Amino acid sequence: MEEKNKKRNIAVLVVGSILYMILVIIMGPLRTEAISQIAGVLSGFEILIATLIVITNYKRGFITTVVLCCASIMSAITSIIRANSLGGLPGVLFPIITIITTAIILTYMNVSGAQAKELSEQYEKIMDANRIMHEQEEALRTLAYTDRMTGMNNIQYFREQMEEAVQKQEAFTVIYIDIDNFKNINDTHGPKTGDAAISIYAKRVSDFCGNKHVCARITGDEFAFLLMGEQSETDVLNITENLRNLVNEPIHVKGTKLALTASYGIATYPRDGQSSELLLDSAIMAVYNAKANGKNKACFFSRTANQSVYVNRSVYIPESRYYPTE
Ligand code: GH3
Ligand code: MG
Repeated sequence: MEEKNKKRNIAVLVVGSILYMILVIIMGPLRTEAISQIAGVLSGFEILIATLIVITNYKRGFITTVVLCCASIMSAITSIIRANSLGGLPGVLFPIITIITTAIILTYMNVSGAQAKELSEQYEKIMDANRIMHEQEEALRTLAYTDRMTGMNNIQYFREQMEEAVQKQEAFTVIYIDIDNFKNINDTHGPKTGDAAISIYAKRVSDFCGNKHVCARITGDEFAFLLMGEQSETDVLNITENLRNLVNEPIHVKGTKLALTASYGIATYPRDGQSSELLLDSAIMAVYNAKANGKNKACFFSRTANQSVYVNRSVYIPESRYYPTE
């Protein structure tokens, strides 16, 4: 497009210059004769051509115009000398007026061009600042919702996801996971091994979770899994069993083989809590009961009729295995 414009402008310059010169040649003899009015009309065309050349070719066009006008002036002066009459004087004045007019046009075009450039630069800067702000917002958002050690979603993210479902009055189920006797791992192998074990488990849970569900590291050795929509007890237990297999699969850290177990607390919205906070509390309560019932178990949360005593149904999962070392 730019190349096309450039070619068009050059064409205007060349054709305009030729037409201008033709007019200069035609007007030479006309100036001193009776039909000098025609010369006046043709001079108007000279101004028109010069203006076109300048607005299409800027500085280059202006230089061309000055050269053409000089030729016109020379031609007019020659006519005046030959005729020994001042009748051709407008032929000298017109090109001078043309030079002044086109100089004003060029100056105005340069000023508005500079303003347009400045505006475009400012626009670019605003767009850049906008993009940077957007990126920083994204980075902050990621930071606010990410658990630093594991890279998993954190409790804030999990809470917001639950809250969204509560706002939409959508049913969901939380499976809360607390690794059994994790303190022993730290005590026996050191906190670094403990960190590595948490990170490995976090990755396994995240991979299993994928985009279908929501999972997060709530704190320490505690994770939570969010199942959206109505779930049958069988479906929830199947997922719990999958999560259990992920924990029970031995972990290898710096030549040490660890096999962990965990306890699971299950609570469903809205039955087990009317808000996201209450529901999470219910799931934690269910985990306590799983721990109290011997760990490596999953417990559903439920309430008695008077809603003051918590009663949990325990689902038996075979005996916990814990291998500090191999
Ligand atoms: P329980 O079976 O009752 O869950 O016992 P537990 O030993 O797992 O203890 P609990 O869940 O109450 O506490 C978790 C422990 O995990 C406390 C702390 O020693 C350890 N822990 C918490 N956060 C981290 C962490 O980021 N890194 C490491 N290495 N250990 C952690
Ligand atoms: Mg624990």
